[in-house]
Amino acid sequence: MSAPLLQAKALTRRYALPRTSLFKPAPDLVAVNSASFSLHRGETLGVVGESGSGKSTLARMVMAFEAPDEGHILFEGQDLNAVSSQELRRLRRRFQMVFQDPFGSLDPRRSIGWSIAEPLRAMGEDSKARVDEALEQVGLTASVAGRYPHEFSGGQRQRVAIARAIVTRPALLVADEAVSALDVSVQAQILNLLLDLQDELGLGILFISHDMAVVASICDTLLVMQHGHTLEAGPAHEVLNAPTHEYTRSLLKAAKA
Ligand code: ADP
Ligand code: MG
Repeated sequence: MSAPLLQAKALTRRYALPRTSLFKPAPDLVAVNSASFSLHRGETLGVVGESGSGKSTLARMVMAFEAPDEGHILFEGQDLNAVSSQELRRLRRRFQMVFQDPFGSLDPRRSIGWSIAEPLRAMGEDSKARVDEALEQVGLTASVAGRYPHEFSGGQRQRVAIARAIVTRPALLVADEAVSALDVSVQAQILNLLLDLQDELGLGILFISHDMAVVASICDTLLVMQHGHTLEAGPAHEVLNAPTHEYTRSLLKAAKA
């Protein structure tokens, strides 16, 4: 098997909680506690857990938005927290993120074409042809590039956000609750789109959700998190068919309800 696209080695991230006493040091919250995993090209790794389990913190570390307090993240074998800032800038085009709320990445006052081109501009490029291609890749047409976010439905806006994420031709997509705000039928369309893009582009996808039903439907491997701890990790079918923790069973039960 080829070297992993992404490897997390014992990632730990702590946040200082508000001080409760003048005389004691601020207590720590361990948001992510020694998380390890690997993700290969063309594969989807699901991270599932209730709100507060550390999923978004993990995503921010993978995206090199914040550094772990301990541990390493290797992207294509390179430690994201050890490379030069110049090298990190060069690597950034290779991993992109899709958020729950596309309004976070789409400026309401700008055309969607402008927003989709933003990651290209950040690298000193501006390619209308590439934006048009990305729009087609997500099932929209180049002709909508001049429209504004409010002119689209929730599902279409998420397509636009995905276009923005793939415009730099990344190898890794980090999707943090990317379908959680959508109706179930629209969720299915966006999940299918992600799987199609994965086939077409060989993307590795780190797919984060609190919803086990969603994660179970698209992931090859699964990580179950609770309070920063990894409770289970392994092939999705194993975790789903033979969960070892009561917590995982409760997530499965909630998903079936
Ligand atoms: P999830 O995405 O699974 O809901 P998060 O990663 O957002 O979990 O949060 C994990 C824990 O870390 C939570 O207890 C949250 O309150 C805490 N946390 C997250 N970000 C910060 C921050 N910037 N400062 C302090 N605490 C944080
Ligand atoms: Mg989150």
